[in-house]
Amino acid sequence: MKQLQVEKTASRGIAVAPVYYYQEPDLTPEDRGISEEQVSGELEKFENARKCVMEELGQLAKTSEIFAAHQEIAGDFMLQDSVCTRIRTQGKNAQLALTESIEEIANLFAGMDDEYMRERAADVRDVGKRLAARLKGKKLPDLGSLQEECIVVARDLYSSDTVKMNAHFVRGIITQEGGVTSHVSILAKMMNIPILVGVQGILEQVRDGSLVCMDAEEGSIVIDPEDEVQKQYLEKKAAYERERELLLALRGKPAVTKAGKRISLCANVGNVEDVRQALPVGIDGVGLFRSEFLYMERDHFPTEEEQFQVYKEAAELIPSELTIRTLDIGGDKELPYFSFEKEENPFLGWRAIRISLELREQFKEQLRAILRASAFGHVRIMFPMIISLWELGEGRALVEECKKELREEGIAFDENIEVGMMIETPASVLQAHAFAREADFFSIGTNDLTQYLLAVDRGNKKVANRYDFMHPAVLQAIRQVIEAGHTAGIKVGMCGEMAGDTGAVPTLLEMGLDEFSMSAGAVDYVRSLVLNN
Ligand code: PEP
Ligand code: MG
Repeated sequence: MKQLQVEKTASRGIAVAPVYYYQEPDLTPEDRGISEEQVSGELEKFENARKCVMEELGQLAKTSEIFAAHQEIAGDFMLQDSVCTRIRTQGKNAQLALTESIEEIANLFAGMDDEYMRERAADVRDVGKRLAARLKGKKLPDLGSLQEECIVVARDLYSSDTVKMNAHFVRGIITQEGGVTSHVSILAKMMNIPILVGVQGILEQVRDGSLVCMDAEEGSIVIDPEDEVQKQYLEKKAAYERERELLLALRGKPAVTKAGKRISLCANVGNVEDVRQALPVGIDGVGLFRSEFLYMERDHFPTEEEQFQVYKEAAELIPSELTIRTLDIGGDKELPYFSFEKEENPFLGWRAIRISLELREQFKEQLRAILRASAFGHVRIMFPMIISLWELGEGRALVEECKKELREEGIAFDENIEVGMMIETPASVLQAHAFAREADFFSIGTNDLTQYLLAVDRGNKKVANRYDFMHPAVLQAIRQVIEAGHTAGIKVGMCGEMAGDTGAVPTLLEMGLDEFSMSAGAVDYVRSLVLNN
């Protein structure tokens, strides 16, 4: 019996099953040069493989948006150009040219500071693997055809593997590589399959068929468990399943506390696909739409029209509130097409509203796009990182300027659109009373507020044990903000991770928080806490 304790993934669930050892075919490219006469043949091989893969992905795109993104990668000019140039000018065969190009592009993503963008490298490799298998005439393992209960153990999985999996047979996933915000983790959580990622050495510790117990919430794995341990895990699993059933039965219920206060339970999302996946959980709206992902995924500032299409689609999907936070870039988030000057302290530097107020043209394009989308649902605007009344005033003035333009152009929008702000800086806490008179709502961003109040970098592992949103200073700040908001008659929500933390929820309810916005996976748990408090 071997026991491993690993990092948690924000995924829940317990599994006890034999291992399905996921082994990829050898896709190592042929290591041979080509003559001039062979160039056109190799170009043709690549082109044929690309066409087949594009077609395959086109079919798969009907089942998940991820494949539409993969189709874009496969059809991307940069990839095509990179492979063809290698074949034409460097005498490389198609397989080798493809492998090198994929690695080059994936490494470009992997080198970015932002975790979300870094993990998009996996999508590039996913497409590369599909193309390489075509070129080599190999079949990739098909997790969709599994017929027995198992825990899939793999070096890494790709979204294309995960989406085909049958949750009835795949009871858990353990990967040696990968990160918590990879698409695989997100998909597995959506499918309610417990997943543990980045488990060092797991491939050497298990064989195909080894019995494994895993608890995704605790981050524990036991390989070849003794009978007693296996029994304990099976009991925990049964208790977990009973709890889930109870939680699912509560989904239709409005979240009302014992004292009769209706609490709004919302989701944090980064794109329209997240919205779609959050809907079945029974959310009251979106408390945070992180619009920066729209900017980070492109190779140019998204135009007003491009943004409008996305916001409109999201607004139409959600019958209730859709809170769009304006661009929150800088800090640890960069744009591939915009060069940021190197800063000594990026989190104290040029970020969020500070950038928007300087790049007015782009800011106005975003505000116009949001305003236009407000004609299709209940849309709210939220500014990040506010420290002064001047910033809030400038932001609001620009909203008014955009409204005037739209009126003159005869374009519809919600005249009464609410404009609120995040409370994530100490300055906004100390001045909460003044801000509450100027903002239509508050949303407390505890991720940043904690780091700024405690002077503890939110991304630095060395000080992670000091990063604590239950610190008395943070709690006092939250209480102060809620009181200030309520005195001025505005709603106070929270969209930092704390809002979905089951340990923190009772305290926040006691303080009078009106809205909890969190990852969709946490909503069921928070709802049950609200109903019991
Ligand atoms: C926050 O700071 O709490 C927040 C929700 O914003 P982000 O995590 O995107 O900085
Ligand atoms: Mg923040």
